[in-house]
Formats: sequence, structure tokens, C-alpha cells
Amino acid sequence: MDADVIIIGSGAGGGTLARALADSGLQILILERGDYLPREWGNWDPQTVFGEHRYHTDEQWHDQDGKAFSPVTGYHVGGNTKFYGAAVLRRRAKDFALRQHQGGDTRAWPITYNDLAPFYDEAESWYFTHGEAGADPTEAPRKAYPYPPFPHDEDIALVDKALREMGYHPFPLPLALHRLADEPEQSPCVRCPTCDGFPCMLHAKGDAELCGVRPALQHSNVRMLTGHRVRRLIHGKNGKTVESVETDQGSFTARLVVLAAGAVNSAALLLASASEKYPSGLANHSDQVGRNYMCHLNSACMAIKPGRENRSIFQKTLALNDFYEDSGDPDYPYPLGHIQGLGKVTPALLHAQRPLMPIPISAWTASHSVDWWLTTEDLPDPDNRVTLDTDGNICLAWNPKNRESHRRLCQKWREILQKAGFMGVFFQAMDISATAHQVGTCRFGEDPADNVLDPHCKAHDLDNLYVVDASFMPSISAVNPSLTIMANALRVSAHIIQHAKGGL
Ligand SMILES: Cc1cc2nc3c(=O)[nH]c(=O)nc-3n(C[C@H](O)[C@H](O)[C@H](O)COP(=O)(O)OP(=O)(O)OC[C@H]3O[C@@H](n4cnc5c(N)ncnc54)[C@H](O)[C@@H]3O)c2cc1C
Ligand code: SF4
Repeated sequence: MDADVIIIGSGAGGGTLARALADSGLQILILERGDYLPREWGNWDPQTVFGEHRYHTDEQWHDQDGKAFSPVTGYHVGGNTKFYGAAVLRRRAKDFALRQHQGGDTRAWPITYNDLAPFYDEAESWYFTHGEAGADPTEAPRKAYPYPPFPHDEDIALVDKALREMGYHPFPLPLALHRLADEPEQSPCVRCPTCDGFPCMLHAKGDAELCGVRPALQHSNVRMLTGHRVRRLIHGKNGKTVESVETDQGSFTARLVVLAAGAVNSAALLLASASEKYPSGLANHSDQVGRNYMCHLNSACMAIKPGRENRSIFQKTLALNDFYEDSGDPDYPYPLGHIQGLGKVTPALLHAQRPLMPIPISAWTASHSVDWWLTTEDLPDPDNRVTLDTDGNICLAWNPKNRESHRRLCQKWREILQKAGFMGVFFQAMDISATAHQVGTCRFGEDPADNVLDPHCKAHDLDNLYVVDASFMPSISAVNPSLTIMANALRVSAHIIQHAKGGL
């Protein structure tokens, strides 16, 4: 055996799990396809990040019509948390039960909010989370956040005030950034404008490299091999155990194997590991591997007050959940979703993303806009799925549900912002290439006939295979997924330790 436990992937799920297992004394081997993201000036350069896509994969995936697209995803130590906006929200307690949306129903989880709450606490502490308990009326009662909320820049404070005067309940967006408010001169985070979507040049973002992998590697029983892309999992004769993990650089063995390659890649890897015993993919007797892919319905929004420049530097500090439970309209009693600040769209960023827009127009627009990110819940659909083509390349079919609720969320927000004095309110909906919030594809649940994983995130079909990335989720909710992935990895870690030590 090369290790007691092999973890495939070092992102939100894998990186957090590695840290959670590190104290156990078990021999842990992380196999990571990517390398450390280079620390360089380009980390904060919009042209490098969004114009040249230097840190994103150059893979092409294909949609349901066979059309190629470039997924916004990257392969590095720390996974996609290297780029994340570090908005770390807990799911609402109601998100764990079946909820009715205009576009259909969500699916109940086999665990409740209370089961996950202690692990949310721990994940927030590991990931330097700032926030204000009790400020978000939809959040379950909870203990204080580890760090105080990020203060609003002046233009965001004005929006906060306007929203309150209209009777809404804005709250400070919970953020995972290593910022020391009491000792700003000692603070690793400097509150810069290039955080959301950018890697942090100062290693101050609460990402899975800083908060998961690095602390794990302090332990002599944990090692990581970068540049090791896992290609297949090979099972033993009886089909009940993974016997070896095949990578580009050779095969590895362990008592337990934990897949944490991200929702799309974990499903792709199981499908690529098909065998005579598992003709439609490893661990796929339920036929659910790759299915129920969900990704938020997201729109970016730029709101412009012609007479006022927005001088915010770090503007991703405000959020609103007034339409999370329902629209507020008696004739449309359905949830609409969540609204949060977006990292500042600077002139350089807008130019990198819209190179054909004349520079004076993009410069004026970006310097006058306040920018937002709107999220509506996508719903599980077995036809939204990951498959492989005959060459083993990834195909992703995605027709999001709930479009009408997202349209209404955007419309509500437009009306509110217009009342607050923003004359121009523009939206840009994200398409299939925006795979940032990918979840589903290996859902967990009690029934082996209908779920890939059991409630401990062990494959129903195999005795020694776990999955701890975003793929375990049976429903996505309308809040950002990372904190739930981290908390779930912490939740299942105790079970994995017991299993690896022979206690199960
Ligand atoms: C621009 C952007 C902004 C975001 N903002 C937010 C936010 O503000 N809040 C939030 O909650 N979420 C945000 N997200 C989403 C968040 O980053 C993901 O939900 C989270 O990282 C998913 O965790 P994971 O463990 O499932 O996968 P990942 O973090 O993607 O980790 C998967 C890991 O597996 C590795 N891997 C893949 N395939 C293989 C293989 N075959 N062999 C070996 N290794 C492999 C990858 O290199 C990677 O390290 C954002 C994402 C992006 C891209
Ligand atoms: S310094 Fe702070 S705000 Fe800037 S990228 Fe790093 S964590 Fe984000």
C-alpha cells in the first residue's frame, strides 16, 4: 500500500479533508492533477486572468448540441477556491428539505442543518470567516462568526442605507479572507480590488491551499504529488473495492480512496473507470453517476448612477436574502434567490472581458457602476448530466430549471436599484461555460437504487470509495457552495478515520 488513504484532488473538499485527516496518524497521499498556482504579478492582472485565461484550463468540453466551450475552471493545488470570491454562506435550514420552486422541486438531503452546523462552525474557523450573526434574517440561529464583518466602502454603505429605508434587510456578506481588522498593518489581506475571480498574490484568501493543504502538509504522515492526473480507478475481482488508482505517472494503492476532483471531473473519472462489472461507470449501479448536474442560474449586474463615480475598492461586502424564501408577490409564492456584491468591475477588467467596447465607454461605465451577482437555485434533472465521448472527453448537458424565477429576481433588483437612484441597470446571464458552482453528479442518500453515495458519502456499490467534493449534493440551494463542501468534508472525516483504522 502506498498510503492508508488516497485523496484525489486538493480543492474545497479534498484540501479540507486532508487537514481533517492529518492528525489521525494515518498515511495520507493527495494526488493532484495540477501544480501550485504560480505567485506572480499576473495573479492580479485582469488581462492575464480574464483576457488570456492564464490560470484556466485550455480543455474544451461539449454541450448537449455538440458545441465546444471553454469551462471557467482551473487545475491547481487548492482547486477552484484559488479563484473564488470567498463568499461563504451556510445553506438555510429549509434548504435541507424538499422545497417547491416555480420550475419544480428540490430534493431532500439525508442530513439536516443541525447535523452540519458544528462542521460549519469548524470550517468557518479554519477559513478565516468574517460575518455578523443574526444580521441575515434567513440564516438559522448560530454562534458568532470567528471574525467581524468586512466594513462597507462608502458607495456600498449608501446602498445598504437605501435598502434599509425601503424596508429590506441587507446584511454583511460572510467572507473567507485573512484580514486582521484590529491590526491592519499586520493583516495578510489588504482589501484589494482583484479578489473575486482572481488568485490572491499575498496568500491571504481563505482558500483550500492556505487553509487545507498547507496545514495538512505540516504533518509528516501527509504527502502530496502534484502533476498526477488520475485517469482510472481499478476495482478488484469482486467489484467491491478500488484496488489501484491509475495516474499519468503510475499507479497507487491505498486502503481507502476518496474522490474530490470536483463535480464534473469526479463523475468523468467514475465513467472512465467502467468495467465488465460496472459497464456504465464505476459505482454506477444506480445509473445516477454524472446525472443531476446543477449549477446556479447566475447573472452579473452593473448598476450605474451617472452623476456619481463608484470609488469602492473592495465592494463585495453586502448581500440580500429578502427574496430567498419567496418573491413577496402573492401571485408568485416561490423562492427567487440570493443577491450579493460582485468584486468591483474595474475599467481594466471590463476591457479584458469586452475588448471590442471602445475604451472610453468601458472606462466610464466601470468607474460609475456598482456591481452585483444574482443567484437562483437550479433544480435536479437526470438529463442534466456529464457523459464522455468516445475519446473520453467531457460532454455536459445543461438546461437549467427555474429561469422564470431568475428573470423575476433580476427584474425585482432592477426596480429596487432604480428606486435607489441607479438609472442604468444591466444584466449579463452566465452560460454553460460558467461552471464555477458545479454540484450534483454523485448524490448522497439512503437508497442505493437511487443514489451514488450513502449518507457518509461512501459509494453504495463499493466498500472503500468515498466522494467528498461538490458532487454529493442532491440539491444546490441558492447560496454559494464552498462552505457546505468544506463542512461536509469535515463531517465525513471522522467516519473515514474510523473506517481506515478498521473500526467499521
Ligand atoms: C471564479 C470563481 C468564483 C467562485 N466564487 C465562489 C464564492 O464566492 N463562494 C463559493 O462558495 N464558491 C465559489 N466558487 C465555487 C468554488 O470554488 C467551488 O464550489 C469549490 O472549489 C468546489 O470544490 P470541490 O472540492 O468540489 O472542487 P475543486 O475545488 O474544483 O477541487 C477539485 C480538485 O481536483 C483536482 N482534479 C480534478 N481532476 C483531477 C484528476 N483527474 N486527478 C487529480 N486531481 C484532479 C483539481 O485540480 C482540483 O484541485 C467560485 C468558483 C470560481 C471558478
Ligand atoms: S489581498 Fe485580500 S482582497 Fe486582495 S486578493 Fe488577497 S484576500 Fe482578496
